[in-house]
Amino acid sequence: MIVDIHTHITYGKYPQFSKLVDQNRKDFPVKALLKEMDSDGIDISVLLPLVNPENDGYFGVAGNIECLEAARKYPERLVSFCNIDPRCMLNTPKADLGKLMRIYKDLGCRGIGEICANLPLESPLYDNLFRHAAEEDMPILFHFTGQAGGTYGAIDAMHFPALQKLLKKYPHAKVIGHAMAFWNEIDGDMKESDRETYPKNQIKKKGYLFTMMDKHPNIYGDISAGSCYNALSRTPEVGHSFLKRFNKKLFFGTDRFTPKTPSPILNFMKEALKNKKLTKNEYDNIMYKNFKRIFTGETK
Ligand SMILES: [Zn+2]
Repeated sequence: MIVDIHTHITYGKYPQFSKLVDQNRKDFPVKALLKEMDSDGIDISVLLPLVNPENDGYFGVAGNIECLEAARKYPERLVSFCNIDPRCMLNTPKADLGKLMRIYKDLGCRGIGEICANLPLESPLYDNLFRHAAEEDMPILFHFTGQAGGTYGAIDAMHFPALQKLLKKYPHAKVIGHAMAFWNEIDGDMKESDRETYPKNQIKKKGYLFTMMDKHPNIYGDISAGSCYNALSRTPEVGHSFLKRFNKKLFFGTDRFTPKTPSPILNFMKEALKNKKLTKNEYDNIMYKNFKRIFTGETK
């Protein structure tokens, strides 16, 4: 079985938004996603709505209601998260975001994300989001960045000092990390200027990501997108040792949002199993069992 924790669909009714970023981009409605899942042997996909003003509309990616409706239409194949901007409910750190979370939870949403608000993680608004997500037991999936402006994602400095404060302050918050700033921490020699890039140099020293994942029981990783594939494949021994060590804290994902999005991570995982870099149980943990355990409470 394979569960993909990171996919997006584009607006079903208004494909013209899909061309905002790229004239040649094709739209990717729910039926196109199901087709790709079938061809890759993916059983279940998690739909991540985009709602933050940094990318709402701009990528033509469906928001909360459309993702929710798609998941209710195909309950065997799709699960939806809800996305809650930390500025939601009148842009105040006093907002009772839990009320909103409970509505989405009752409608079937299993987590929150992909959170892309380009605000510092020190912001009281993010503190409020963490507090409510922890209280409501809703895992939060983040796009992280080191950059303010000209991009999207929650902002933190190298080695994620603000994130780690929040992880400690809210031990019941479950945070799933994603994107270049997160995955590039796999390299102990990473420079500040490399944070938002796809570095190709060999990894000689294990990076701070190992320390952070060891230290905090409530941080997880989503192995989707070019960012993670690059981090794991640039020095495969380091990549395999990371997968092995944290096999109970990682989720398989593709970050599909357009037809024929290449997903080299799927081959990387299959090869790792074939070449005995991972046991079948470690592989299954990453491919679906962690999802079942964390999101549905199933332990099989
Ligand atoms: Zn994404």
